[in-house]
Amino acid sequence: MDMIALFGNPNTGKTSLFNKLTRTYAEVGNWSGVTVEKKTGILRDKSAVLVDLPGAYSLLPLSLDEGVATRYLLEEPPAALINIVDASQLQRNLYLTVQLLEYGRPLVLGLNMTDVADATGLRVNKELLADQLNVPIIPMVARTGSGSKQMLASLREVRHTSNAFQLDYGPAVEAAIKDICNLLPNTSVPQLRWAALQCLENNPVVMEWMTNEKQREQVTARIQRCEEELLREGYTIPPAQHIRSVRTAWIAELCSKAIDTSKLKPHSLTDKLDALLTHRYLGIPIFLLLMYATFKFTFDWAGTILSDMLDEFFSGTLSSWISELLVHLNASAFTQSLVVDGIVAGVGGVLVFLPQIAILFLIISVIEDSGYMARVTILMDRLMQAVGLNGKSFIPFIIGFGCNVPAIMAARTIEQPRERLITTLLVPFMSCSARLPVYALFAGVFFPSHAASIIMLMYVLGITVSLVLAKIFSKVSILSGEPSLFIVELPPYRVPQALTLFRSTWEKVKGFVRKAGTIILAGSVGIWLLSNFGPQGFGVEMDDSLLATIGGWFAPLLAPLGFGTWQAGASLLTGFMAKEVVVSTMNIIYHVPDMQGLELQVSHAFTPLASFSFMVFILLYVPCLATVAVIRKETLSWRWTAFSVIYPLAVAYIIAVLIYQCGRLLGWG
Ligand code: GDP
Ligand code: MG
Repeated sequence: MDMIALFGNPNTGKTSLFNKLTRTYAEVGNWSGVTVEKKTGILRDKSAVLVDLPGAYSLLPLSLDEGVATRYLLEEPPAALINIVDASQLQRNLYLTVQLLEYGRPLVLGLNMTDVADATGLRVNKELLADQLNVPIIPMVARTGSGSKQMLASLREVRHTSNAFQLDYGPAVEAAIKDICNLLPNTSVPQLRWAALQCLENNPVVMEWMTNEKQREQVTARIQRCEEELLREGYTIPPAQHIRSVRTAWIAELCSKAIDTSKLKPHSLTDKLDALLTHRYLGIPIFLLLMYATFKFTFDWAGTILSDMLDEFFSGTLSSWISELLVHLNASAFTQSLVVDGIVAGVGGVLVFLPQIAILFLIISVIEDSGYMARVTILMDRLMQAVGLNGKSFIPFIIGFGCNVPAIMAARTIEQPRERLITTLLVPFMSCSARLPVYALFAGVFFPSHAASIIMLMYVLGITVSLVLAKIFSKVSILSGEPSLFIVELPPYRVPQALTLFRSTWEKVKGFVRKAGTIILAGSVGIWLLSNFGPQGFGVEMDDSLLATIGGWFAPLLAPLGFGTWQAGASLLTGFMAKEVVVSTMNIIYHVPDMQGLELQVSHAFTPLASFSFMVFILLYVPCLATVAVIRKETLSWRWTAFSVIYPLAVAYIIAVLIYQCGRLLGWG
């Protein structure tokens, strides 16, 4: 099947259109950096495969994810291109358009966000634009899907045409283009002229793509000569810059003719809101207040009620049904216990927290889609700069609140290898959804009237610890270097769209349920087996089980932290698989029929202070298995991977000891 590629600047609606044109779903967010890897889906009319690429302002890659676009054009030439441009930001968007037109494949320009442009009073002369760029232009609103039918139709039409777009870069550069075209091999690239221009722009991806060393030298030498010729023509800038200025001048000229700004309305509401929300001193307190309200709503009000209902269902109705069914089927005592005490207890114990997780993610989706999250990034940028990072690292951090695995992949948007590495090492301190069940359980038992504050404290602590560590890391010489550029881009505020919110929440809920059905299920079975198996064989007392023995090895080490029991040791060990498993383990080893029972047991095993220290330890101690795997994949280094497991252990240990011992001195425990 033919491939059609979707290109555009960040946050222009590529993924929204992708979701409309295909039956697949990909994450949409009102900020840049959401799509990191390319995604594919089949067009609704089944005529081609659509590829959603990460956003880029230009084909010249600034960061790893921007390189994806160029590499894609070189290695898998698509049959046609869709270029999404933001109608309200046309001038900046057209830069990439020019580079894509030079590529020479059929292209359809999706003029997106026409609703925004209309609302602000911006008028775009589509006919003139289509005529000058020599491509079809489809006005659209990707968010609602308006224009997507026309887009599909236009794609079918345009696929077999070719586009001939060419800018005149002046004699010196044109001569160089011609020569470089002859130096380049016969390749799959549709337009050698495009490849030559990319070489002249010093696009490292294109330079690396030439595997022939000699050829690369010849091309480099020719670029050098071009620079000298430019100098003779009176330009004191290198070819790359010359090409850039020719393009921007052409675009500016085009926009001055095609865009009518005379009816532009002042954007006062956004400006007023931004003055408040990104205020130097008020911004962060407002953000914290909002987060507090979120946690309050999630953990003290709506979520808890729903969770209790679900718990009643799992531990009451469902358990007794299953028990009856098993008796009816004449299942052995072994099977009965495995299913009820192992699987239902372990998996159900985690699933009861689903409502809280769903509500939290729904609210976070609202914050993202409204455009507020982008403002928070700016607020954080100031804080992050103080510790040697920048706002770009905050994007992976926020994603990390959902799950650390995609968060670490999102660190690819950071250009500086040093900052990328530091961000990768710090992301695991972001409190992911897997840790929520643990907090919800403990905060619910020990701090029932302050659950929201305690849980929020965990999130804030995670961020604080990473900021402090970032400061330390940036002082260490192998990790210090030039800071990378963070282009602050504020999307307009938008009323979040119900469907987007629903789907983005549903994706996360689905992930959580899938995990419950796989790793948590397997973990529960394993833990149940270990907790029933001992030196004397099967069916031993829990305290004599293998699990108790293994957990017991760690107990003395954990005593200074306030929870020196084999149960805590065993839970922490199994929690390495996935942090939810901590709760499963407790459900199984405290052998309780329902949450009230577990709460009672836990309240005997921990003091409030010890439970706080335990929560902090769970927050910080080690990344889960999946996170470790992705750290290895992204850093390509076993050494950094090992480091990423060991140093959080040390950090968690020190902080938990401090909390517990200081708390005791203060008479809290
Ligand atoms: P991408 O970064 O290019 O993949 O952009 P997304 O598809 O993630 O969309 C970015 C934001 O713009 C989201 O909040 C979308 O809901 C919103 N959006 C997308 N298309 C439109 C549109 O046509 N009009 C408006 N008002 N918002 C849009
Ligand atoms: Mg996207």
